[in-house]
Amino acid sequence: MPTLLVVGGGHASLPLLAHAHALADDAGAAVTLVSDQPELWYSGMTPEWLGGVYTRADVTVPLGPICERQGVRFVQARAVALDRDAREVALDDGRRVGYDLVAFDIGALNPGRDDADHAVRTKPLWRIAELGRFLDKTAADGDARCLVVVGGGAAGTETALNVTARPGLGGLSVTVVEPGDRLCPELPARVGDWAAETLRQRGATVRLGTRAQGTDPEGVRLDGETLPADAVLWATGSVGPPLFVEAGLTVTDRGFARVDRGLRSVDDGRVFVAGDSASVAGHEDLARIGVHAVKQGPVLRENVDQALRALAAGQDPAAVPLRPFRPYPVSPLLVSTGGPSAWWVAGPVAVRAHAVLRLKHAVDRRWIDRYRDGASYDGRWDARAASGHR
Ligand SMILES: Cc1cc2nc3c(=O)[nH]c(=O)nc-3n(C[C@H](O)[C@H](O)[C@H](O)COP(=O)(O)OP(=O)(O)OC[C@H]3O[C@@H](n4cnc5c(N)ncnc54)[C@H](O)[C@@H]3O)c2cc1C
Repeated sequence: MPTLLVVGGGHASLPLLAHAHALADDAGAAVTLVSDQPELWYSGMTPEWLGGVYTRADVTVPLGPICERQGVRFVQARAVALDRDAREVALDDGRRVGYDLVAFDIGALNPGRDDADHAVRTKPLWRIAELGRFLDKTAADGDARCLVVVGGGAAGTETALNVTARPGLGGLSVTVVEPGDRLCPELPARVGDWAAETLRQRGATVRLGTRAQGTDPEGVRLDGETLPADAVLWATGSVGPPLFVEAGLTVTDRGFARVDRGLRSVDDGRVFVAGDSASVAGHEDLARIGVHAVKQGPVLRENVDQALRALAAGQDPAAVPLRPFRPYPVSPLLVSTGGPSAWWVAGPVAVRAHAVLRLKHAVDRRWIDRYRDGASYDGRWDARAASGHR
C-alpha cells in the first residue's frame, strides 16, 4: 500500500483530503496530513469576518473531522524540511514523516519578513486572526486606536474596506499605505478609484506613492517619518516558502516550486505542489489568489490518484500521464466592500452591484459548505446588506 503525505491543509488540498478514502482504490493508500493549523481559513470570506459579517466558524474549515471521515492521519505540526533521498519530511517538533508520494499545499509568505517584525502578516492567512482580536478589543473598550495596512493590493484593500465598515469601531482610524499611484494596481484602474473613494468616504486615510520601510513598536517606518500604529497589517504580496529550494527543487526567482501542468515537480515525480507555492509550467505569471488554488484542487486529486496507482503497480510515478491544470483565461475576483455591493473583476472588466455581493455570498457558501459537513449560517450578511450598512 503506497503512502501519501499531504503537507498543508489549504485551498488546493481540500478536494484531495475530502476524497482520500477513494485514492488508489484497488490498493488503497495510507494518507497522512501534516498542517500547522487545525483549520483552513477560506480567503473568499475572511475579509468579511474582519468586517463582522461572518463568524470565525463561518469562514474556517476544521481539518480534523474531514481527516477522521476519510481515514487520514492528521499531524498538527509545521514541516521544516524535505529530504527527498530518504523520502521524509521533517517537522518542527523533531519528528519525521515518510512518504511514497508527497503533495505540498503550503501557500506563500509575505516578502520582506524581517521588515514586518511588529506586524500581523497576511500569509499564511490564519495569521490574520490576530487582527481580528485587535478589532474585537477596540470594539469592546471603544478606545481610540490606529490601524495601518501596509500594501494597497487587493488583499490589503479588501481588508481595509471591510474593517472600515464594521459597526462599533468608531474609535479606530485606518490608514492604507501603498507605493503605487493607486490602490489595487493589479486590477483595472476604476477599481482602485472606487476603493480609494469608498475608504476616504469612511474616514480612512489612503497614502499613495508611499513605501513602508519596516515596522517597530511605535508604528510603520516610512521614508523620514514614522506613522504611529497600534496594529499593522503587512499585506505585501507573496514569495515561496524556503523549504523547496533547500530541498534542491527548482524554484522561480520568488521561490515558487516549478511544477509541470499536472502539478508534479519538474525535478521529482514523487513530489506534487499546488496552490500559491507552485509555479505551473506555461502559467508562470498567474496571480497568487485562492481562485487558482481552488481550481487546482480537483486536478491535484486526480493526478495524485494516478501517481499512487502507478506506485501500487510498481511503475514510475514520473512517467504517468497527468491531467493538465487549465486556469481561467482571466483571473475572476469577487471583492467585498463591507457595504451592500461587491465588485466583480475579470481582466479589464469591473462591475459593482448589490447583485455581485449576493453572487459572492452564494459562491463562497457553496464552496465552503462542501467541506463543512452541512454546517449552516445564520444569514447575518443578508440582514446587513438589506440594512444598507456602509
Ligand atoms: C486578506 C486576504 C484576502 C484574500 N482574498 C482573496 C479572495 O477573495 N479571492 C482569492 O481568490 N484569493 C484571495 N486571497 C488569496 C488567498 O488567500 C490565497 O491565494 C490562498 O489562500 C492560497 O491557497 P493555498 O491553497 O495555496 O494555501 P493556503 O490556503 O494558504 O493553505 C496553506 C496551509 O498550509 C499551512 N502551512 C504553511 N506552511 C506549512 C508548513 N511548513 N507545514 C505545515 N503546514 C503549513 C498553512 O498554515 C495553511 O493552513 C486573499 C488573501 C488575503 C491575505
